[in-house]
Amino acid sequence: MNPPHATPPAPPATPAQALRQAQTLGLARIDAQMLLLHCLGRSRHDRAWLIAHDDDPLPAPAAAAYAALCRRRAAGEPVAYLTGHKAFHGLDLAVDARVLDPRPDTETLVDWALECAHALPQPRIADLGTGSGAIALALQAALPAARLLATDASAAALQVAQANARRLALPVRFAQARWLVGVRGPFDLIVSNPPYIAADDPHLAQLTHEPLSALASGADGLDDIRTIAAQAPHCLTPGGWLLLEHGWNQGEAVRGLLHAHGFAQVQTRRDLAGQERCSGGLWMG
Ligand code: GLN
Repeated sequence: MNPPHATPPAPPATPAQALRQAQTLGLARIDAQMLLLHCLGRSRHDRAWLIAHDDDPLPAPAAAAYAALCRRRAAGEPVAYLTGHKAFHGLDLAVDARVLDPRPDTETLVDWALECAHALPQPRIADLGTGSGAIALALQAALPAARLLATDASAAALQVAQANARRLALPVRFAQARWLVGVRGPFDLIVSNPPYIAADDPHLAQLTHEPLSALASGADGLDDIRTIAAQAPHCLTPGGWLLLEHGWNQGEAVRGLLHAHGFAQVQTRRDLAGQERCSGGLWMG
């Protein structure tokens, strides 16, 4: 007979028990709450409901589904893939393993882009490597008159982004392209959250569920940023901005690249954790 610890725990009987079980697996409380609400068919805004009903009986199918999702979460799958959804800049995006799980850090890039674009009556904007479409869709939602083009090298990613655009009824245009190759400008603004993790960064070992092509970029993580910084001047209108997300320790290198390619007013923004997260520059023509 198996020793007792080898037997998976019985599916939880109540929300309180469910959250306690997740804790013993090492899950963050917020992740467990999101998974439980998902299995109960409730909105992710219903965390107060869970507290108010913490001793209610859980339906057996929901409890079993929840226990399975908790195990997958404990093995590293992002909550967004398990629930199929991610909130980003006020939008509800459908996401799955074909695209990077959108990070709250990237909202810094969106806010900066909105500052650059808000004074223009009909800004022309490109989002390169759009993944789920997060950045392009957030910009289009905030700037209804803007003309957004979102590109990705991955056809599978573009399917996810296009489905999000349709569901949210946002008129973003999409094109399969490697950065700006074959893309016709000019744009008033180019934004991108490209892959920027160094190929040998140990951090990648924790991100095995996401597409590697959306994460890693050469020996120093800067291969794609170098390509974009070189291509963007050919597609920006004079007075246009290029804004790039990058790793917390890459600000100086990215500012250097932007200077080297002739950008002016080169500067960096920090994310909510206070880390240097985006750098950008103005193209004077
Ligand atoms: N910010 C992500 C991380 O460090 C990486 C995203 C990216 O490479 N664009 O986990």
